[in-house]
Amino acid sequence: MNMTIPGARVIDVRASLPRHKTLKYGRRKQTDIRSAAMHHSATKSGSPEAFAGYHVVTNGWPGIAYHFVIQKDGVIYWCNDPEAISYHVGNSNRHALGICLVGDFRTQEPTAAQLDAANRLIQHLQVQIPTMKQVFGHQEYPGYAWKNCPAFPMGKFRSDYSQYLQKAVDKVKTPIQVPVAISMNGSMLSVSGFLQEGVSMLPVRAVANAAGGKVEWIEQTKDVRVNGRDLNEKLISGSAYAPARELATALGLQIEWDQATKTVRMMKGSVSK
Ligand SMILES: [Zn+2]
Repeated sequence: MNMTIPGARVIDVRASLPRHKTLKYGRRKQTDIRSAAMHHSATKSGSPEAFAGYHVVTNGWPGIAYHFVIQKDGVIYWCNDPEAISYHVGNSNRHALGICLVGDFRTQEPTAAQLDAANRLIQHLQVQIPTMKQVFGHQEYPGYAWKNCPAFPMGKFRSDYSQYLQKAVDKVKTPIQVPVAISMNGSMLSVSGFLQEGVSMLPVRAVANAAGGKVEWIEQTKDVRVNGRDLNEKLISGSAYAPARELATALGLQIEWDQATKTVRMMKGSVSK
């Protein structure tokens, strides 16, 4: 998974954190992930190494509970593969990805740098893992109402987060990717696109395949053509993304935009809306 996040520093500590000698976390597919679970460390300070040591030595767990730990300075530590079913929300572990902010928010506040990093991390993960549609506090998972974690108000966190995304979209200099869902002839595709400066950019190959279009890759010019049409595509991690309208024209599809659900609907033929 690509973990280069504009405006954030990510340190991959997956290989260096303490792990149990024999036990290993179970694995899942990325598409099993449905939500991000927010935690606080419930310690005034700390580090991924310290948490991993505690979880392994004291609790006897296979490794650190969290997938990501965010320090007070906003540095994001990548601690587990997203596929690892680590222990942080009990029965919901299988479908949740754990993000822990260092601090005891019963008596402290998360820093602005931590919240900014958390926002950037979540929006990045939602592009990489489109099935991860929701963000909950630990306490909001079934059976955890009693637990004061992450001890910051999740309603405010989520509304700040959506405003943050909107502001991020408005920033031209550092375009941030907001995920865009894609529906083809009434069914949702498993891949997603993203919004860039108000334009929906969709994955060319997946959309063309779903619509039965022909994709050509011109090696010399690094150009992508769909049904012989040249597109203003953008290459991201080896995949081509093109503006939804260009793609629809090349594929002979009708197109609609649903602002509320951030969904591009594409339909064959001259179906009226
Ligand atoms: Zn927690």
